[in-house]
Parts: sequence; C-alpha cells; structure tokens
Amino acid sequence: MLLTYKFRVKDKHAAELNRQARAVNFVWNFCEETQRHALKWGKRWPSGYDLCGLTAGSSTLLDVHAHTVQRACIEYEKSRRTQKKRSLKWRGKRSLGWVPFNTGTVSFKDGAFTFRRQRYNVWLSRELPEGARIGAGSFNQDARGRWYINCPVEVPETKSAGTASIGIDLGLKSLVVMSDGETVEAQQFYRDLEPALAVAQRAKNKHRVKAIHAKIANRRKDHLHKLSTRLVRENGAIFVGNVNAAGLAKTKMAKSVMDAGWSTFRTMLEYKAIRHQVLFDVVDERFTTQACHGCGSIAGPKGQTGLNEREWDCPDCGAHHLRDVNAAINIRERGHALLEGGIPGIHAGEDVKAVRKLWHRSSL
Ligand SMILES: [Zn+2]
Repeated sequence: MLLTYKFRVKDKHAAELNRQARAVNFVWNFCEETQRHALKWGKRWPSGYDLCGLTAGSSTLLDVHAHTVQRACIEYEKSRRTQKKRSLKWRGKRSLGWVPFNTGTVSFKDGAFTFRRQRYNVWLSRELPEGARIGAGSFNQDARGRWYINCPVEVPETKSAGTASIGIDLGLKSLVVMSDGETVEAQQFYRDLEPALAVAQRAKNKHRVKAIHAKIANRRKDHLHKLSTRLVRENGAIFVGNVNAAGLAKTKMAKSVMDAGWSTFRTMLEYKAIRHQVLFDVVDERFTTQACHGCGSIAGPKGQTGLNEREWDCPDCGAHHLRDVNAAINIRERGHALLEGGIPGIHAGEDVKAVRKLWHRSSL
C-alpha cells in the first residue's frame, strides 16, 4: 500500500525552498498566461503535454529540477480540468510555497532527504525505512511559513503477530481507556503548558495562544501515533466504541471534544489495522458504561450526569468496577459477539459478513 509520509523540513532550508517555490510560481503563471492567450484568440487549450513542451529547457535557467517544471505544468492542466475552469488564479507572494518532485528524484539516506544533490534535514517524527522508494510528492509550505516534505512510499502489508484482542473506550477526561486498564489522560498533553497558556490568554497574545495549542495538538498526535502502532502490533482484533464526536460537539462539551481527537485516533487505528491485517471494528457503545461486564446487570453510572462517578460496585454480583475499564471490556465483548454470530442491532458498521470474512483467527 502507498503511504504518504510528512516531515517538517528544518528551517535552514527555507530560503532555498522559497527560491524554488518562486520558480514554480513563475512556471505556473506562464501556464496561466498561455491559457489566457488561448482563450483570447479562440485557440485550442494547451494540454499538460503542450505546456511541458513550451517550458522545456527552462529548468536550467530557473535552477530547479526539470521534473519540477514538468510536474507544475501537468498539475496546472489537471487543476484546470478537475476544477472545470477556463482559467486559474495567479500564484504570487501570498500563495503557499509548493515544490513538486517526481518519482525517483528524492532519496532518503542517513536520516535525511536528498533532492538535486542537496541534502534536506528534517525532524524525523516517524520512522522511514532507509532507501525507501519515494514516489512523486512535493515540498509544501504552511501558513506559518514552515516547510514540509510530503513523500508517498510503497510499504508492504505485513501481518501483525498479535493474537490478543482489545476494546477501547474513548472519553473526555480519559481520552483512551483500554480493556486491559491502560489509560491515556487528555490532560497529560497540556498540564505543564497550562500556566503559559493562562499567561498568554490574559495578555491576549493570540499568536502565542495559537502556538501553544498547536504544540498540544502535536504532542497528542505523536502519542496517539505511537500508541496505535503498538496496538496493531500486539493485537489481532481492535474494537472501538462509536462515540459521535460531531454530535457531542454541538453541546456544551464541544470544546473538550474538539480537543480530544477521537476521530484522529480511530482513523490512525483503521489504516494501521488494514496495513497489518488486524481486524478493526467500531461497535455500538450504548450501555457499555452502565452494564456490568461480569453479570450484565445495567446498574452502572448513567451517561454524562454520572461522569464524576469513576468507580462503582455492581449490586447484583458485587464486582468492583473502574467505570471506563468496564466500558472498554464491554466494547471488546461486543466485538467478540459480533464475530461469533452477532447480537442484532449492536453493529455500527453495515457489512457484518465482510467483517467475518476478514476474521480468520480462531485464537480468541
Ligand atoms: Zn455484576
């Protein structure tokens, strides 16, 4: 499968990338000019191939890779076609920098990328195999002027060695609680930044507030990446409750939900599960909090009113429960039931058959 890796390029390369981005804008605007000329004189619209022909040889003059010029021409024609427009916008100072490259023109070795015989150092936030074959991608700039490299890499689908199964309860206070008791607290990503955030907010320093929030989001994402990678390595099946982030976001709890990043985590788990042939499913989480996982009695704390009740005792079987761990175990049980024949109405997805087909492990 093809995965796109994204790395932040170190700032020392910004000047060079800015320069190349200006050259790309120049090529783009040349394409735009050619298009407008064709419109004005009722001529045939230039194809990507035509534009490549017209710009041939310009790369030496512009001091960029020949394939960068070609990709810019082809992307121009593609954008015009997919947006169904007669002409496009000019690219100028306010356009976010973009330097496309072609398959095989960028390589990765010793922790850095090489493009046009120049090394680009990055913050290696994820592991990328040495000598990975990098497809057609691009260097991209964000609104804050930082540069990133987006490179598609073909990675083999490897089967996870894990045979255990796990249920995951997503919450507000505890972001993630697993059926084995492991917990990720929502607060852990910003506890130490809270004083700084309060200072910035009092000073109405919007720029600083934004930067701190970005830092929190980055930490959380990084943590969830590592956690999801470990989970697909250790498990043959992963079940997650179907908390509706979009639905909850309309209520008072909106802020903390937006902050929670459940959907990010579910998406990560899903694509990693596919990659490692791990069964992943989203199950209906109704009553998972209230039901005792031992005897099934619906006696636990109710919904959001009982949010502060973190532990409870089952009046029917006497078992002591940690609220969220009990919910996670119920989610795992529902996942198992689903695979073994199903409880009508508990499946949040549609195609139960497809799920069973996927399910080829009998070790549970
Ligand atoms: Zn019970």
